[in-house]
Amino acid sequence: MKPKWWQGGLFYLIILLAILALAFSLLPNSSKPEKVDFYTFVEQAKQGEIDTIEQDGSTLIGLKDDEKKIEASFVGSTKELMDSLKEAGIALGEDGITFTVKAGGFDWGGILISFIPLVLFGALLFFLFRSARGANTQAFNFAKSRARLAGNKPTVTFSDVAGVDEAKGELQEIVEFLKSPQKFLALGARIPRGVLLVGPPGCGKTLIAKAVAGEAGVPFFSISGSEFVEMFVGVGASRVRDLFEQAKRNSPCIVFVDEIDAVGRHRGAGLGGGHDEREQTLNQILVEMDGFDSSTNVIVLAATNRPDILDPALLRPGRFDRHVVIDQPDINGRKAILQVHSKGKPLAKDANMEVIAKQTPGFSGADLANLINEGALLAARRDMKQIGLKELEDSIDRVIAGPEKKGRIISQKEKEIIAYHETGHALVGKMLPNSDPVHKISIVARGMMGGWTRFLPTEDRHLWTHSQFEDRLAVGLAGRAAEEINFGEVSTGAQNDLEQATSLARRMVTEYGMSTKLGPRTFGKREELVFLGREIHEQRNYSEKVAEEIDDEVKKLIQNAYDTARKILSENKARLKLVAERLMAKETIEEKEFDDLLKEPLPSPELQATPAS
Ligand code: ADP
Ligand code: ZN
Repeated sequence: MKPKWWQGGLFYLIILLAILALAFSLLPNSSKPEKVDFYTFVEQAKQGEIDTIEQDGSTLIGLKDDEKKIEASFVGSTKELMDSLKEAGIALGEDGITFTVKAGGFDWGGILISFIPLVLFGALLFFLFRSARGANTQAFNFAKSRARLAGNKPTVTFSDVAGVDEAKGELQEIVEFLKSPQKFLALGARIPRGVLLVGPPGCGKTLIAKAVAGEAGVPFFSISGSEFVEMFVGVGASRVRDLFEQAKRNSPCIVFVDEIDAVGRHRGAGLGGGHDEREQTLNQILVEMDGFDSSTNVIVLAATNRPDILDPALLRPGRFDRHVVIDQPDINGRKAILQVHSKGKPLAKDANMEVIAKQTPGFSGADLANLINEGALLAARRDMKQIGLKELEDSIDRVIAGPEKKGRIISQKEKEIIAYHETGHALVGKMLPNSDPVHKISIVARGMMGGWTRFLPTEDRHLWTHSQFEDRLAVGLAGRAAEEINFGEVSTGAQNDLEQATSLARRMVTEYGMSTKLGPRTFGKREELVFLGREIHEQRNYSEKVAEEIDDEVKKLIQNAYDTARKILSENKARLKLVAERLMAKETIEEKEFDDLLKEPLPSPELQATPAS
């Protein structure tokens, strides 16, 4: 942060000016005229109390020796005024009272001066407000609930949410209840009060909550747990009270609490002791929910991606006793989401969503929505009338790694290293039976990566076998192996690969029981220190000797994988060169071109089959 001395200085200057201005405006002003009515004004003029009359719009000012003495109002033209004065017997002109009319009729200067204190006080308030907010407090809007009546009734329906059919089924009941509660009450059914939507970010928790309200045609109030964290003690609780009051007045309705883990963590786990703001806020939510009776048609939906750290009190019956999982979409889900978001957009014939869905494992709904949007932007930039497959595929890379860094300059040598590195990954991936097919190799830098090789999984995987892991390790280390074989030394480019390989090998040994030497058991207990947020710490439940054995096993796995990669690449040195050179020339190679390259007769047979070292 920059030092804000000038801001502080300005702040005090404004306070000083404001006080001065106030003092001056309160001081008895000698030149401030006394307000009188028109007849008194005329009387005083007759008696010679004033020597000049000034007409200023609808105001008359009487002056004596250039000092404002009295003031009265007169509505009418100058002629009417002069007539009235003459009628009253006042002599105007050379030997009587001087009469002047102020041009413009409006005393802007006077108005401005009288506004200065006001402006200064405005500025003062603004600064106070700003500094209060800067201190992470919300001093000025604590009384108001920030719950939003999102357009009253959302127009989103279940048809806008794709790939989560199971969740929709479970929430359908809530919709039914909101629509016709009597049906349920007549049967004595206990009405659900809270439903916890569990799932990773961007997978449509907010969207589906809105859709529930939309389907039932009821208002939707939303508030985020993280809003409460930044507030004064007591403010959170009062805001919750407000929110629920508002909701009950508008029932039937949905209250949506986003990021409930921000307030709903295990109580007593906070660093600030047991009485912090979060806890009071959480208590208030519980009190409100417990206060619902059978006639309260308010259903609270809350979203979290960390159900494990929630306070058990939140999960008791009558509170958030139902959990609906909104998971990362699988391949069919992704296709459906892509279709929802491309609805109404001009798509080219070749823009097959299934192809895109296949290429986007791990994408959330939000990523996919983003992808379609990027595709449309790209098509517009390319002056096209429709979004084609090419645009969508190009957008995948953009969403994964951010926009292409065309501006980054890499030297020819660096480019060569990256090309061999990536080709190493691709070749070893191609040769090993348990690896996914290579989809694309690129040395165009994106985001943090110098280059990348994308493998295309043939299916969504939930289980991994030992040999799949082994092959994955070899593919991961192949970049480094290729560098070593071709240049005789390695670069820092493989750092991330090494990290990932090490972590995978370690998990194979300690979590999946995949080491024959150590046997089928786990080692260490991973725990999250809730009071420190997301910090993870491993609790050791094994001896020093076992620790050494684990290290040995990890080392062995990695060494074996590295040897495999080296062997494959040494035996295919000519191929490595062929592909890497093509990659340097074209920067990106697609699956088909890669496969063709591997079938091509080698240019110089003498390069082939250098024995592995
Ligand atoms: P969350 O609340 O789980 O973080 P959101 O509901 O805010 O996620 O999702 C963000 C956006 O991503 C949505 O507005 C929508 O455009 C898109 N999206 C996410 N999941 C889906 C889905 N299952 N179907 C359609 N669109 C989705
Ligand atoms: Zn690599």
